Amino acid sequence: MSEKGKVLEFTGCPHAPKAVKETAANRIGARGLVLREKPIFEHSDPGRIGYSLPALDVPPASFPEELRRGEVADFPEVSEVDVVRHFTRLSTWNYGVDSGFYPLGSCTMKYNPKVNEAAARLPGLAGCHPHTPERLSQGALGLMHDLQRALAEISGFAAVTLQPAAGAHGELAGILMIRAWHEARGSARKKVLIPDTAHGTNPATAALCGYQVVPIASGESGVLTAETVAEYMDDEVAALMVTNPNTLGLFESDIRQICDIVHQGGGLVYCDGANLNALMGIARPGDMGIDVMHFNLHKTFSTPHGGGGPGAGPVGVTEALAPFLPKPLVVKEREGYRLDNDRPQAIGRLKAFYGNFGVMVRAFAYIRTMGGAGLKHASQMAVLNANYIRARLEGVYHLPYPDRSLHEVVFSERNLQGDCHTLDVAKRLIDYGYHPPTVYFPLVVKGAIMIEPTETESQEVLDEFCEAMLAIAEEARQNPELLHQAPVRTRVGRMDETAAARNPRLIWQE
Ligand SMILES: *Cc1c(COP(=O)(O)O)cnc(C)c1O
Repeated sequence: MSEKGKVLEFTGCPHAPKAVKETAANRIGARGLVLREKPIFEHSDPGRIGYSLPALDVPPASFPEELRRGEVADFPEVSEVDVVRHFTRLSTWNYGVDSGFYPLGSCTMKYNPKVNEAAARLPGLAGCHPHTPERLSQGALGLMHDLQRALAEISGFAAVTLQPAAGAHGELAGILMIRAWHEARGSARKKVLIPDTAHGTNPATAALCGYQVVPIASGESGVLTAETVAEYMDDEVAALMVTNPNTLGLFESDIRQICDIVHQGGGLVYCDGANLNALMGIARPGDMGIDVMHFNLHKTFSTPHGGGGPGAGPVGVTEALAPFLPKPLVVKEREGYRLDNDRPQAIGRLKAFYGNFGVMVRAFAYIRTMGGAGLKHASQMAVLNANYIRARLEGVYHLPYPDRSLHEVVFSERNLQGDCHTLDVAKRLIDYGYHPPTVYFPLVVKGAIMIEPTETESQEVLDEFCEAMLAIAEEARQNPELLHQAPVRTRVGRMDETAAARNPRLIWQE
């Protein structure tokens, strides 16, 4: 095995957190080049300042006394280099897609090409003020209009709103539109059917919109069957919320028949589109009979995410639901682009101004640079990569649903030896330098380990990751204690996660 592919061997690791010796090096604040950092307030030294400027050689400007700030209590007094080092060091504590493989299932943590960042930072786009009159923001409006069209084309819907700020927000928009559609026909109805593999935001959205959530079981093979949907369908059901491919990574193969059953019963079908990365250029939810779907631009269309930054959750709808789209919508007329606010059936406005414009620019740049063939290739590679991992780990890790999956693969903890569980594997992966996959979701798999490699990873990266996973399964057999303690090579060891959440201590202590 090449040095690069070699899995680190820490059996009997001397670095277990409690065993760290009190040495001069530790006290001074470094362990090798793993830099420690204390809160900036603790760097403070009275009288230290961050600048030195030449003495004033002009009369000082007069400044009204009442506008002057007095002493600021506990303000850190630090030099410029203290500040720069403090924040630079903290920035190295972060793990992101730009630092390594991030196989967090359902989240599509793909690498986002920097050219799309550059596009979003173009001064004319980044500095575009939301109050700029329409006639002076034709470029921005044109971009939004064309993005609406591109997303409609990718998904097979008649119209798209870009307003919602995230997937969950798109769900809210979608279910509010479904509610408005039913109300316009006389009754909002009472229930929303949601399969047991759904993301938690689905039932939360339905409940928030005043619906009773009816969970329905997916079949033995992990997909929803037409028979089950027929059993639950009645004239109180407003909608079925389905994710396709679902959170097991499996394509809902009965989807057309399921949509027909719901439509015949007078209901509508909502699709959670978070997994669109498996389908681009291959299949269109609009063609499957879906009525409403949200996109997660920050997952599928090149906005970095995971740190709580802005996202966008556009929503596509059929012709019948288009009148209910939130306002304003960008429309194209002979004289140019315009924000259409004259939409009497719209569910209202969901976001200040027009939504998160910078995220739209990235998505637009991504779609234009990839082109139709590029998007299709991305989805094909995402599916291939997930199945490569499935094939390499199958047998060692238990596969609860053996059917071939699309862009992600879900294992369970069942085969792990030595009383080791999914959490132990996740923590041990950190020692090997990986962000853990999604764990304990979807809920239908006991001890789920949900891996989504995305299309942007090379075979070398996938091989190294698989070798770490296989080594960890072997460690569970030979040295389970180590797994129970993991991570053992990090700044902070295994945390009591309940206590950490309930009683956070935010001050650094040796
Ligand atoms: C990420 C995700 C959501 C929610 O999207 P946000 O943008 O995080 O609000 C909903 N459903 C599924 C399946 C997801 O993976």
